[in-house]
Amino acid sequence: MAAPNIETIVSLAKRRGFVFPSSEIYGGLGSSWDYAPLGVELANNVKAAWWRWMVYERDDMEGLDSSIILNRKVWKYSGHEDTFSDPLVDCRNCQNRMRADKLDLPAGFASIEEAIRHKAVKCTNCGETDLTEPRPFNLMFRTQIGAASAEDDPNALAYLRPETAQGIFINYLNVQTAMRRKLPFGIAQIGKSFRNEVTPGNFIFRTREFEQMEMEYFVRPGEDDAALNFWVKACFDWYARLGINPDNLKLYEQPKKELAHYAKRTVDILYRFFPERDDETKRWDELMGIANRTDFDLKTHSKKPEDAEGKRLNPDSTEDLSYFDEASKERFYPFVIEPAAGVNRSVLAFLMDAYTERETDKGEKRVILKLHPQLAPIKVAVLPLAKNKPEIVGMARTLKHQLQPHLRAVYDDTGGIGKLYARQDEIGTPFCVTVDHESLEDEAVTVRDRDTWEQQRVKIGELRNHLMKRLKN
Ligand code: ATP
Repeated sequence: MAAPNIETIVSLAKRRGFVFPSSEIYGGLGSSWDYAPLGVELANNVKAAWWRWMVYERDDMEGLDSSIILNRKVWKYSGHEDTFSDPLVDCRNCQNRMRADKLDLPAGFASIEEAIRHKAVKCTNCGETDLTEPRPFNLMFRTQIGAASAEDDPNALAYLRPETAQGIFINYLNVQTAMRRKLPFGIAQIGKSFRNEVTPGNFIFRTREFEQMEMEYFVRPGEDDAALNFWVKACFDWYARLGINPDNLKLYEQPKKELAHYAKRTVDILYRFFPERDDETKRWDELMGIANRTDFDLKTHSKKPEDAEGKRLNPDSTEDLSYFDEASKERFYPFVIEPAAGVNRSVLAFLMDAYTERETDKGEKRVILKLHPQLAPIKVAVLPLAKNKPEIVGMARTLKHQLQPHLRAVYDDTGGIGKLYARQDEIGTPFCVTVDHESLEDEAVTVRDRDTWEQQRVKIGELRNHLMKRLKN
């Protein structure tokens, strides 16, 4: 079977209630999406799995939930006010907007600017070559605090955060002191971020409002290279453990010229989001990035000037975010390794990788979403074989109620059993439990497996343990 493309997932997502276009009854809102009943379960499960792995299963991790709107000075010293921009290009013919860094550089030109000047670059929409020179466009969403408009009063200007990381850096000292942490340790955070993207699109791959799972890992200078390698492998393995085929993942070492101003080294984990594209290199795009942010952030937010030229002089901060090492009696700024993943891109990758098709004995095509049981929106569906038999329906409803405090269970009697199974396969439910005529006699039900379609008779008294055990395995 050919790998599914994003369009297959868009259609499944709308039809089966994973993701809906946002503001749809008013014509939508450019590349905004809402998580529907099954999508919110899937996204919550992805976040819970990440949090469990990142925070609970480690000894060196704390969690945090910082504000979306921060003091504007955070974004001044982080560099976002000056540099968080994409190079924007307009087509004078059709007004299409493009990112210069995403346009193909034609052969024979040293830069995209030069190629645009020589009319060698085509608009991605109309094909004309009358394009403007690239100009920086800041991606931060502006808002205002209080009643004064930001135009009249610069102090009223604020931004919606474009990354969750800065909320961690400005809380670094509070967390370290309150939790009595010693290096190395990390702070993890999940939350919304906002970027006024020039070219959002490809479903939930690139949106203007999205969610991030970020962790900042603080280490001694000199231990940063090994820590980066550790987190690259750990993150890759996390996706693979949760069901992504490793052949659909690959590492990308960012070349020096692509590195952000704060980064010493960055490795992206790419996923094969676009298998239908002719050009092999264009089939892959970023799922997450792991960056060595050096000591840039802690230094830049510290009140002390650090270098001779006074480059990082910060007269606005009230704290020095350096670290005192009791053992060596040295004071220094920790280096930071940042694994930064997108919830939305992770959800998309998990959906794409889980999508499979299978033929029934009668030659009908069935879609099976082979999601990892931890991620599946619904863990078990309880189905009555005959909905006109009150005893069977009653028993099925009771079973659903007994299971629901322990795992996400649903009851469905809106079709024949074949149709009900097919529906659950399509949304990735690992198990269906069927109550039939015999159940009334033998106090047992049929448990059907999503992936093998095998059925097993299980005593009602053992059902919960049976399901829990199989879900864990
Ligand atoms: P890209 O190059 O695709 O714009 P980025 O390198 O700017 O991404 P980071 O700043 O490293 O992204 O953010 C970390 C992660 O957050 C990304 O790997 C991605 O999963 C997610 N992310 C970033 N921007 C968006 C967006 N506009 N929509 C959805 N997810 C995003």
